[in-house]
Amino acid sequence: MDSRDKRSNPQLQKALCYSNVERRHASSPSVIVIGGGFAGIAAARALYDASFQVTVLESRDRIGGRVHTDYSFGFPVDLGASWLHGVCKENPLAPVIGRLGLPLYRTSGDNSVLYDHDLESYALFDMDGNQVAQDLVSKTDLVRQDFREDMPISRAISIVFERRPDLRLEGLDYKVLQWYLCRMEGWFAADADTISLKFWDQEELLPGGHGLMVRGYLPVINTLAKGLDIRLGHRVTKIVRRYHGVKVTVEDGRTFVADAAIVAVPLGVLKSNRIKFEPRLPEWKEAAINDLGIGIENKIVLHFEKVFWPNVEFLGVVAESSYECSYFLNLHKATGHSVLVYMPAGQLARDIEKMSDEAAASFAFMQLKRILPNASEPIQYLVSHWGADENTLGSYSYDMVGKSHDLYERLRIPVDNLFFAGEATSFEYPGSVHGAYSTGLMAAEDCRMRVLERYGELDILHPVMGEDPPISVPLLISRM
Ligand SMILES: Cc1cc2nc3c(=O)[nH]c(=O)nc-3n(C[C@H](O)[C@H](O)[C@H](O)COP(=O)(O)OP(=O)(O)OC[C@H]3O[C@@H](n4cnc5c(N)ncnc54)[C@H](O)[C@@H]3O)c2cc1C
Repeated sequence: MDSRDKRSNPQLQKALCYSNVERRHASSPSVIVIGGGFAGIAAARALYDASFQVTVLESRDRIGGRVHTDYSFGFPVDLGASWLHGVCKENPLAPVIGRLGLPLYRTSGDNSVLYDHDLESYALFDMDGNQVAQDLVSKTDLVRQDFREDMPISRAISIVFERRPDLRLEGLDYKVLQWYLCRMEGWFAADADTISLKFWDQEELLPGGHGLMVRGYLPVINTLAKGLDIRLGHRVTKIVRRYHGVKVTVEDGRTFVADAAIVAVPLGVLKSNRIKFEPRLPEWKEAAINDLGIGIENKIVLHFEKVFWPNVEFLGVVAESSYECSYFLNLHKATGHSVLVYMPAGQLARDIEKMSDEAAASFAFMQLKRILPNASEPIQYLVSHWGADENTLGSYSYDMVGKSHDLYERLRIPVDNLFFAGEATSFEYPGSVHGAYSTGLMAAEDCRMRVLERYGELDILHPVMGEDPPISVPLLISRM
């Protein structure tokens, strides 16, 4: 029977469909996911649930990437992401976090990321240990102005002072402004002289404020990863794409083949050219990789015998320059454990990464002693190295001065049978876990469509998005 006959006979067509399903089990479409962070695991989960053969190649000996919950203190501490930005049902991660019953501790309300970050939850100190009056803090918000041309945020502030000398800040006011810049540098993981004025506040924030994952992020990724074929210790070095599929080589020379691949490695790794693409990626894709910024933020976690600091969420140190300013997250408020987390960003983080862990912990402790001279020594510490870590080479992406915000989208757009995911491919929520997660789902759907178009089976495999059951479990807000 020729193919024209098959098409004209609906019964036979149906039978053929089922026989295709049978064939799918024997040789269903295959995909290799490179990188086992939130984006990669989200993509792998979605395609696995859509009956694809999925193999995840992960360079580290653990999954999670920039989500890394450490248990060495006897309780969970996140060395990478720790907040769910947007405690609301619209957050794509809300269904899974809600179903797991994981508690969140809200450190701020809506629209309070930088300038007006719920000021009541801060206690600011100068270098002599004097607490800064709250009314001075709010005055500094006045320097925010609208400029048309792009420039570094630090330059914009100088221009404001030139144009409006009445707004010039001196003494403690000036130091508080520097502290704001320090907080902003933490948010972007970059120095104020590299952050784009045009785009610094273009990021979409979900409502609901910022919720700390009290028990750490690990349970979430572990749940998503359940049952997947994940090969740890598999560092990808080369990706060859041809019309009929992809061939992926790992460090020890072994190769893996599949119909398509999802590249979910960090932007820092793509920038380093440690993965060779054959043929080369198109120019527009290489330009997106080069032109997006990748910054550094680290965590130095200090564990103390007991609490001796004020009962606020953050302790900030104001100083003459943002480089000298600092802040500590008080985990005691959220978790009950006597832990402070020092979070340097930008050049300061880069400089601290050159120190030994012991020296880095002493440095953080010294900052604390400046504001609380009677502080007792920490009993344990943990230090992250997101800039130097060859699996990441930076903490998260940001908009560089004079570059287009569209670069995130360009980084996401597929090239033949290669699909791209990860926080730096999220136009809406870059630099976040939920952004990374959404791009994983998007890449999975794009990949499913493309592979199945080729297989001619588009109608018989399940869509990968919108799979969550309709029951929505509300997020659990912990009150300590
Ligand atoms: C200090 C810090 C604090 C943060 N705080 C928050 C926060 O509070 N809230 C929030 O929402 N976001 C936060 N973020 C950002 C968030 O962690 C990331 O946006 C998100 O986790 C990125 O996920 P991803 O899947 O894109 O990348 P990753 O998690 O980095 O995953 C990429 C994976 O690829 C692997 N890989 C690398 N190279 C190769 C290779 N050659 N072959 C195979 N595998 C490879 C890596 O090991 C990694 O597992 C923070 C990040 C940092 C560093």
